[in-house]
Amino acid sequence: MQYLHRVIAAHGPISVARYMAEALGHPTDGYYTTRDPLGAKGDFVTAPEISQMFGELIGAWCADVWHQMDRPPVFRLVELGPGRGTLMSDALRATRKVEGFVDAADLHLVEISPVLRQQQAETLAAYRPTWHDAFDQVPDGPLIVVANELFDALPVHQFAFAGGQWRERLIDVGANGTGLRFVLGPVTEDWPAPQVDTAQAPPPAAIRERCPSGSALIGEIGHRVAVHGGAALVVDYGYDQPGFGDTVQAVHNHEPVDVLAAPGEDDLCAHVDFVALREAVCGTNATAWGPVTQAHFLAAIGLEARAATLKKAAPDAGGEIDAAVTRLTASDQMGSLFKVLALTSAGLTPAGFAA
Ligand code: SAH
Repeated sequence: MQYLHRVIAAHGPISVARYMAEALGHPTDGYYTTRDPLGAKGDFVTAPEISQMFGELIGAWCADVWHQMDRPPVFRLVELGPGRGTLMSDALRATRKVEGFVDAADLHLVEISPVLRQQQAETLAAYRPTWHDAFDQVPDGPLIVVANELFDALPVHQFAFAGGQWRERLIDVGANGTGLRFVLGPVTEDWPAPQVDTAQAPPPAAIRERCPSGSALIGEIGHRVAVHGGAALVVDYGYDQPGFGDTVQAVHNHEPVDVLAAPGEDDLCAHVDFVALREAVCGTNATAWGPVTQAHFLAAIGLEARAATLKKAAPDAGGEIDAAVTRLTASDQMGSLFKVLALTSAGLTPAGFAA
């Protein structure tokens, strides 16, 4: 991505957040803007691509929320980063029999990738979606928001603790003018970890990450939900205790690769800081629920029963269905690393979050 080299040559080293934002979202050379990264032939596989049960259960979750909202005749059904549209297609198919729900759903998709928008247009044509570049363009009104593996694509800043002080980690061109490398910026007073006990010294060479765009987005969603009524469901790979560590990773063809090797060609993501997301929701009048693990959430909203129904209808697919349940819920697979956070307006109790 020559563009990044030109930016650094003109302005000096850039933040890890700028690097992620350009590598993933650059309009002509970004990773997401130029391809469909999903599936066996792509770089990674997500829960809705593993099994239809994931989207179906989330559809039932949304329909339950809609009932609790007193079944508004029109509401915005919003998905952030819908990929191939698989989750939403499964969700809307599974809720066809919930009287009035699909008719009331005014579908809005927030997506930066023209390639994936095209796929979503095909998968979801029957529901006539409207696309937006950002959540704040979605029209007002009662809403239900779903985001699976979107927050992990949002850019993080990294801060390194070196010589007793915090410095932002930056990216510069290599010493010989080619390639990229990490360098440290000036000492920063911009303490990166408000939720970490500052009296406790961080471990030497600690790295803290911060995702201001994630906090801003969840805050905006929380505000909308509180003012207009509704709920949001965020599912992502992340941590629910404050912590240190470099979680930025690059993936190509299902294998981890060097983060700096090929910006624009590899997927980049960072673990989601659910503590920070919860904190940002607390600044709004919405209620935050969880995070709970994906295994807990899916079990609580009926994964076993759904799997049993599918197996009865298609006995030959039994092994495949069992394998999908394991992949979604086993603690050494997606069950524990993936977390689920919900936001609701006052008076709603989202399914799946009871103790
Ligand atoms: N939710 C889908 C896809 C996850 S991949 C699934 O579970 O299969 C991440 C998705 O978010 C892709 O659709 C990608 O194009 C989109 N995306 C990445 N950054 C985004 C941003 N800043 N705003 C909106 N969409 C974004």
